[in-house]
Order: sequence, then C-alpha cells, then structure tokens
Amino acid sequence: MSNPSLLILPGDGIGPEVMAEVRRIIDWFGDKRGLAFDVSEDLVGGAAYDAHGAPLSDETMARAQDADAVLLGAVGGPKYDTLDFSVKPERGLLRLRKEMDLFANLRPAQCFDALADFSSLKKDVVAGLDIMIVRELTSGVYFGEPRGIIEEGNERVGINTQRYTESEIERVARSAFELAMKRGKKLCSMEKANVMESGVLWREVVTRVGQDYPEVELSHMYADAGAMQLTRWPKQFDVIVTDNLFGDLLSDLAAMLTGSLGMLPSASLGAPMANGRPKALYEPVHGSAPDIAGQGKANPIACILSFAMALRYSFDQGGEAARLEKAVETVLAQGHRTADLLGEEGRAPISTSQMGDAVLEAL
Ligand code: ATP
Ligand code: MG
Repeated sequence: MSNPSLLILPGDGIGPEVMAEVRRIIDWFGDKRGLAFDVSEDLVGGAAYDAHGAPLSDETMARAQDADAVLLGAVGGPKYDTLDFSVKPERGLLRLRKEMDLFANLRPAQCFDALADFSSLKKDVVAGLDIMIVRELTSGVYFGEPRGIIEEGNERVGINTQRYTESEIERVARSAFELAMKRGKKLCSMEKANVMESGVLWREVVTRVGQDYPEVELSHMYADAGAMQLTRWPKQFDVIVTDNLFGDLLSDLAAMLTGSLGMLPSASLGAPMANGRPKALYEPVHGSAPDIAGQGKANPIACILSFAMALRYSFDQGGEAARLEKAVETVLAQGHRTADLLGEEGRAPISTSQMGDAVLEAL
C-alpha cells in the first residue's frame, strides 16, 4: 500500500519559516515512528503569483484535491497589497477552501499549563483547558441571498440573509459528532433558536443527527449564553458546533482564552473522500506576519500543532498526535520561549529553528 500523501504549501512571509520546522518533524516521524508520508511541496499565495501570475495554479489545485491532506503556512504580505483583488494571495486560500468544499472549520482552544498566566482569565479557569469549536464555514449569513445595500424611501438599507439548508446543517453536525466520538463524547450545539428560524431548524437537524451517535452527550445552548459560559467556565465544554457567524465570534473568543496567536492551529474539513478520509486543509490561525518575516523570530508551534491535527483527523494517528502535543507541552514547561511568548519579561527569546530543535529534542 502506498503512503498517505501530504501536500505542503508554505506560502508567504513566516509561512516558509515555520513550515521548515514542521518538515523536520515530519521527517522525524518517518525515521523514528515508521510513519512515512508522500510529501510534496507547492506554491500558494504571493509566492505562486510571483511564479505563475496567479495565487493558486490549476495544477496545484488538482494536487490539493488528490492529496490525503494539505498543510498550509500563510499567505499575503505588503508586497501584494496593490494587486487586483482577483489575484490577491488570499484568493489562493479562498479557492482551496471553496473548491475542496471545506465546510467544517475546527479551532481548538487548548491551554498549556506553562502559558496559563498568559490568559486574561484566572489560571484555574484555563489550566488544562482542551475544547474544540466547529464552525460552519461555507454558508449562513456571510453568503445568504438577498444581500446588498438598497434604497428604501429616503434612506439606505443594509441587508444580509441568514440561510441554512437541512443538508448544510446535517453535514457539519455529522463532522462535529464524529469529532466528539474521537474526543470526550460531549457536544454542545449553539444557535439562537429563540429568535431565529435558522436556529430552530439547526437545533432540530442536530438533534436528529444525534440519534446516530447515542454515545455522544448532546446539549443545546443559545449562542449568547454560550459566550458567557465560555468565559465563565470553559472546561464544561468538549466540542461545540455552531454556524458561520456565531462560530466566527466564539472561536476567536475561545482561542484567546489561552494565549498567543503563535500557538493556535486549525483544520478545515470537507466531505469524506473515497478512502474514507475527509478532504482536509490544516493551517495555523495566524497570518504571514510581515512585521517579523525573514528574521527567524516566528513561533512555529501553531504550524506544528496543525500537523498534529492532521495526524489525528486525517491519518488516524491520535497516539502520535498526542506524542507531538506532549513534546510541545514539554518544551513550554522547560521554559523555551519565542518572542511572542515572552510578554514583558526581559529574557532573550529563542529563534524559530531553536524552537524546532527543542521540540525534536523533546520528541
Ligand atoms: P492576516 O490578515 O493574514 O490574518 P494579520 O495581520 O491579521 O494577518 P498576522 O499575520 O497573524 O495577522 O500577525 C498579527 C500579529 O501577530 C503580528 O504582529 C505578528 O508578528 C504576530 N504573529 C503572528 N503569527 C506569529 C507567530 N507564529 N509567531 C510570532 N508572532 C506572530
Ligand atoms: Mg488576521
């Protein structure tokens, strides 16, 4: 049997810098754990524009469709700010998401004990926190029609439409239940069924899908109450599933319970492929960070943890994912800090590659 395939798209800015550390870690898993991947690398974003005049070539798009998983660094940078919208680096990423139909966006909020002081919340509220928000990514009020700004009488009206079909709700709900099965078997669905019709349907469909997952404890919460509960006692949750708009807000809120942008991974999943694996794109939450690009200052952990998510959710290697996450926890506990993790402390930070060294050492 051939090895699972992994397409790597380092992109722009700090993308290639953090990805270089992930490449070393992937090699380690091949050498030491017998986990070999067919790794190929390609261009996306500004790097692809510079080479081909488009932020994602058709060839690269086809390779992404065929890969078992895609791991992306970051796209964009000031050099491309004046480009036409149609060839902006971000369009490369949007094309990937759209053509792969990645409807479930997974954002973990995980607190490493060594960084618990970074949170704006009390340490005992966040220490040991490990939750996952599943945000619907391809529908809802961001895409619903009609939309626009129209004239009505003597004033203008801004219009957006919150719209969800049963099948759109069902597929993201199914992803969330599958995820809950791999984690703590607890799922909380958040909407506003008290004031929104889409919320009424959302609750009904999620409940129905839940009948296929009797082992998962399902609860429902209004999204505003959910926001409150997330800041009050986030450890009550395991997996949360919610729509595009509420997910946008709640995933940012939940993520920042725990610290730096340089620490946050994400996954975007689509429908299962013929081999049973979901279409999948993994990427750090942070962008290309032009202010620190090319200086060896970037924290590679967000990208490293994105690869850990790939191990768990694309390659069924939950044990190896945990091994990698444990290594990250160890280096943080040992006090290794890139600049973004130092705050006001006067200590000298370590570099991107030194952080990579430390993680490899811990592995
Ligand atoms: P985008 O529009 O691509 O999301 P952005 O401007 O919102 O980009 P980032 O590129 O993520 O944001 O950068 C925001 C800030 O966080 C910058 O000051 C950047 O230096 C810092 N930052 C982002 N990622 C990292 C990282 N991996 N390590 C250290 N600092 C980071
Ligand atoms: Mg941003």
